[in-house]
Amino acid sequence: MAEAGRSTQTKVSIARLTELVRAVFLRRGMSERDAAIMAGVVVAAERDGTRSHGIQRMRGYVDSIECGWIDPKAEPLVRQSATSLLKVDAANGFAQIALAHVASKLMELARRHGIAVASIHNSHHFAALWPDIEPFADAGFITLTMVNSRPWITAWDNTKRVLGTNPMAFACPRAVGGPVIWDQASSRMSQGDVLLHARSGRPLPEGVGVDAAGHACTDAAAVLEGGALLPFGGAKGSSIAFMVEVLVAAFGGGKFGFEDDRSAFPKATTSNTGQFVLLLDPKVNGGGFSDRIEALLAEMAAQGVKRFPADRRYAARKAAEQAGVSVPSDLLAELERYAVG
Ligand code: NDP
Repeated sequence: MAEAGRSTQTKVSIARLTELVRAVFLRRGMSERDAAIMAGVVVAAERDGTRSHGIQRMRGYVDSIECGWIDPKAEPLVRQSATSLLKVDAANGFAQIALAHVASKLMELARRHGIAVASIHNSHHFAALWPDIEPFADAGFITLTMVNSRPWITAWDNTKRVLGTNPMAFACPRAVGGPVIWDQASSRMSQGDVLLHARSGRPLPEGVGVDAAGHACTDAAAVLEGGALLPFGGAKGSSIAFMVEVLVAAFGGGKFGFEDDRSAFPKATTSNTGQFVLLLDPKVNGGGFSDRIEALLAEMAAQGVKRFPADRRYAARKAAEQAGVSVPSDLLAELERYAVG
């Protein structure tokens, strides 16, 4: 994960950071419950070192709410469209709030039928995905989630933005220790990390983006201003980003990334799209899942795998909970201003 790349850092406790972020959302019309959900998501990213989606995103949240692009008071509407399928209209609010709204029902369906899906549309998601699924994995469910977003990446053989950075995250529960969770954008580098490079003037690695003319480019600002990000793994990343559009938007009933029209809201930063969440209960499909997972992880470790996805975050979390986190001083000052005004 890229570092913030800013010169001055200030140490702040998780509790203080949470209080500040919560206050920012509360001042912009959110209920106590919803502000707590969103503060949890933003601070979790900062705490676990997912800096691309931590407090540097607060300006985007604030601008998008203040210009009327997002409804901070949205009440999700739920319809059970099939035995194990919940269709959720987030009512132009945050996807995380819509997901929290159906989380208990989703787990109940997955326990009963072995499988459950939440299809969320008309929602905004501007954060890391792992905070959405870690609680489900902690409760024993294999969980997969995807979010689509406005076009940033090229697809297959073109050189223009056509698909979102469409992240996908997968969580595998474990009987011991935290779940194995990977969470990745479909782009070689997340747009948030490219933003961090642009802000600090650092060149991008080769293969991350192209400029407006479609030429390979390591200037983060040129990639952001008219250029495009490249998918990870070439054609393979394009295919994943395409699948995300299909499952989230075509199946889920939301907008494709390219349909995200913010022309009437120039300050809007988030995408009004959707989220797909799939839960599987391994207990329903016969026993032994936990033992099989431990056997797989043990073999991988024996073959030299030194860490599993999420291990880095768990270590960062432990350290942050004990000693707080160092955040860019200018971002903290901005947060303090937003929290009171
Ligand atoms: P990274 O490339 O930083 O990491 C991808 C995954 O690979 C992580 O789960 C990471 O685990 C794992 N990983 C990386 N290196 C190793 C290793 N050596 N061993 C084991 N596991 C490893 O993620 P991205 O930059 O692609 O995405 C960053 C964030 O951006 C994600 O949280 C994503 O959800 C978010 N995002 C959100 C969007 C939105 O619209 N809301 C859009 C696009 C991205 P670990 O965390 O433990 O390092």
